[in-house]
Amino acid sequence: MSERVSHWIDGQVVAGTSGRTAPVHNPATGAVTAEVDLASAAEVSTAVASALAAAKSWRSASLSQRSAVLFAFRQLLHERADDLAKIVTAEHGKVHADALGEIARGLENVEFATGVPQLLKGGFSEGAATGVDVYNIRQPLGVVAGITPFNFPAMVPLWMCANAIACGNAFILKPSEKDPSAALFLARLWQEAGLPDGVFTVLHGDKEAVDGLLTHPDVAAVSFVGSTPIAKYIYETGTSHGKRVQALGGAKNHALVLPDADLDVAADAIVSAAYGAAGERCMALSVAVAVGDIADPLVDAIALRLPKLVVGDGAQPGTDMGPLITREHRDKVAGYVDSGEAQGATVVVDGRTADVPADGFFLGTTLLDNVTPEMTVYRDEIFGPVLGVVRVETYDEGLALINANQYANGTAIFTRDGGAARQFQYDVEVGMVGINVPIPVPVAYYSFGGWKDSLFGDTHMYGPEGINFYTRGKVVTSRWPDPATSSVDLGFPRTR
Ligand code: NAD
Repeated sequence: MSERVSHWIDGQVVAGTSGRTAPVHNPATGAVTAEVDLASAAEVSTAVASALAAAKSWRSASLSQRSAVLFAFRQLLHERADDLAKIVTAEHGKVHADALGEIARGLENVEFATGVPQLLKGGFSEGAATGVDVYNIRQPLGVVAGITPFNFPAMVPLWMCANAIACGNAFILKPSEKDPSAALFLARLWQEAGLPDGVFTVLHGDKEAVDGLLTHPDVAAVSFVGSTPIAKYIYETGTSHGKRVQALGGAKNHALVLPDADLDVAADAIVSAAYGAAGERCMALSVAVAVGDIADPLVDAIALRLPKLVVGDGAQPGTDMGPLITREHRDKVAGYVDSGEAQGATVVVDGRTADVPADGFFLGTTLLDNVTPEMTVYRDEIFGPVLGVVRVETYDEGLALINANQYANGTAIFTRDGGAARQFQYDVEVGMVGINVPIPVPVAYYSFGGWKDSLFGDTHMYGPEGINFYTRGKVVTSRWPDPATSSVDLGFPRTR
């Protein structure tokens, strides 16, 4: 008997009534472990009504009361990280240490949000005009929704909910239906931390639930992380229904390796960032652009490292790389390797024939050399353990390649030349840049986001931009009248 994963509304588990469910797998075994409820439009309305009522009272909780809940939540998350990591591994497949890593990066955002009294401090101008003071305040939006991808079932919800709740909103999470249980774990922790019921809601579902949220008049804002076509759809639909939307999309992240790079440092970093979480990270390095003579030694150094990676069940100690999320996705990724080979790439390491567990959705690591920009393996986001090497002659050629790509989430340069690195950070048209750092996910007090087709909307996720996204500014101009100087004046008010 598989488990049932249901919604979390008003501080309790609420069984779905739509009659529609989806299977949840353990990707390491291929077994169905649960059925997740898929919400109907009517269930969306029930959840939004509960959140709206909660938002009205939560916004009046004082900053120190909100901060106290955030501190308690932070402590619980810290203490229970191992339990949550086990849930992530069981439904996503990533190895336990990697699941702990995603929780640690999510926890950073909770820690940032504990500082909400400081983050919401406004400015005050005494005496802007004679007897007049001006100041600004930031107020919550009301009900905000987060729609999240399968690849970070704990971290991405935490990117959103910590700041949204700290700012005084009620937050509705629509997690990926592929690994929905982490969301319920977070809901219970919020409750234990003292968050009033209704402020954090989990609504499971697919397109129907998403469309319900995007069109509901009482949802003020939508944060989305997922693939580019859906991000674009979310942005267009949400904004056309009057909502504030930030929608982060897919990626094709390039590593530019200059001839002077430390070969072992670059190879270690690229292997870690290309194959970690089986390549299912939006900041995975999926293209290595080798400049000049470093290409041959770089390909050899990467190829040397791949057979040492242990592919298997992420719950087992010693495993380096787990399975892909579904059988269909595994087959799609293997199909990309077929197409790369057919279009002329050199298959240096072939994940299709690797010795991997027979059950589950496993695929070995693939290294493709002599990839060119026309190939499908170069153009598409593969989202699997496949690294392509593109050979170029110069820095300028490599830079032009990166800047011509439709995606612009992250990139990294490997070099010992500070001047070249500084030039790259200036030239490259990408939102997050690493200098000898392969996965430059910004710390929680900066903000996360790409450019071009990797982000729709103008607000990046979390950090200061997250606080702005979840609040509206208000400017107050105030005078306490002195009856002795009061007079009628029909002119437009000027500062005096
Ligand atoms: P996805 O776009 O398939 O799904 C994301 C969310 O959208 C899920 O909650 C899903 O239920 C919902 N959804 C799916 N199809 C929908 C539809 N037709 N209408 C409305 N909602 C729909 O993405 P995924 O496969 O879960 O995640 C992988 C993708 O996410 C990759 O492209 C990856 O690059 C991207 N990603 C980006 C970032 C980033 O920060 N830019 C971070 C993580 C993942």
